[in-house]
Amino acid sequence: MTSAPTRKHLKSKALKADSRRPAKELCSECGLCDTYYIHYVKDACAFLNQQIAELEEQTHGRSRDLENQDDWYFGVHQSMMAAQKKEPIEGAQWTGIVSTIACEMLNRGLVEGVVCVQNTAEDRFQPMPVIARTPEEVLAARVNKPTLSPNLSVLEQIEQSGLKRLLVIGVGCQIQALRAVEKELGLEKLYVLGTPCVDNVSRAGLQKFLETTSRSPETVVHYEFMQDFRIHFKHEDGSIETVPFFGLNTKKLKDIFAPSCLSCFDYVNSLADLVVGYMGAPFGWQWIVVRNETGQEMLDLVNEQLNTQPVFSKGKRQAAVQQGIPAYDAGVTLPMWAAKLMGVVIDKIGPQGLEYARFSIDSHFTRNYLYVRRNHPEKLEAHVPEYAKRIVGQYELPKE
Ligand code: FAD
Ligand code: SF4
Repeated sequence: MTSAPTRKHLKSKALKADSRRPAKELCSECGLCDTYYIHYVKDACAFLNQQIAELEEQTHGRSRDLENQDDWYFGVHQSMMAAQKKEPIEGAQWTGIVSTIACEMLNRGLVEGVVCVQNTAEDRFQPMPVIARTPEEVLAARVNKPTLSPNLSVLEQIEQSGLKRLLVIGVGCQIQALRAVEKELGLEKLYVLGTPCVDNVSRAGLQKFLETTSRSPETVVHYEFMQDFRIHFKHEDGSIETVPFFGLNTKKLKDIFAPSCLSCFDYVNSLADLVVGYMGAPFGWQWIVVRNETGQEMLDLVNEQLNTQPVFSKGKRQAAVQQGIPAYDAGVTLPMWAAKLMGVVIDKIGPQGLEYARFSIDSHFTRNYLYVRRNHPEKLEAHVPEYAKRIVGQYELPKE
């Protein structure tokens, strides 16, 4: 197993200043600009041209219904459910539903290749996008590389290798750029399996997060911000360390999130055919959002391998979100005993199921709206989608 490098080691690898990134500091390193599709960047880049509604129309046949609050939050969808693999994949981020769907699609000949992210030989968290041609190569990409990943950097290989049927696994900003250039790829069929994504970081930022938050940063193999309001770190020896969200050193950690992620309003991956996350499901379950017929076709391939249950919604998020806005701004850190107590109380009486997902979306959208308003006021109007304006409009923001 590869180990995590130290921050010193990473300094030499710190963000490459790259003149070929028209979005400049807002670039999420999605990889498009590493290919000749950079030609389309002004139209395709999620941070230069926000066009979620148009691309929803192109992909799903309609954009969000703004009269329907579920559409504001979860995007265009046909159905949602909570699911678990009956036999989880060892070492997957959750139970491995994403990897299982990708393997089935290859095994049944629905696709010839899968764009996914393995890690480099030296560093388990350094992303290495590939086009996997076998289930073994897909499984080698299981588990999150919780860093910005240039998934689209492999797009040129599609044309070169003559691939006609492709599955792309990716997060929202990657998928927005992909959908914008989809017609240029020469594919007969593109399937998109998305995950939600929020608060991503550069590799150096990840190291700072691990060193600030975990008792043993070098042995962390996997972590997740869970629905029980704790971060769960899994270590090499299999032990689980939990740290309450409310005990995070917000002051120190405020600057680790990538500016792209602080200005993102596509948490739920609006343009994927099928989304697999966790935040709308009970603790220990994965959350599935079927956006269109293609997504349903993909889910049907693995239905027999899943335990499922309906989604539910419990609790009220609004007061907690409203209180969190000034607290985040001020970088409030609670003493650990108070943070643990607060975590326990909120876990018992706080938002659950879809209401937890709404809590997380509201908290991130209000924070990101303030970030864009303060740092890129000229972009605010066009960059924030209408559904996000409505979500943010439910809260009182600081006057500046
Ligand atoms: P696995 O079978 O383990 O497969 C994981 C897949 O993720 C692999 O195919 C791999 O190619 C892909 N992947 C790994 N790293 C990256 C990356 N950096 N960029 C793009 N693709 C990658 N879900 C939520 O509900 N809420 C969140 O806030 C949330 N944040 C996330 C942030 C990141 C950076 C990522 C990558 C995922 C996030 N997810 C989130 C999704 C969730 O953590 C799981 O990835 C998802 O539920 C699938 O679990 P699995 O066991 O089926 O995946
Ligand atoms: Fe290019 Fe992607 Fe960065 Fe936009 S986010 S500038 S498309 S690499």
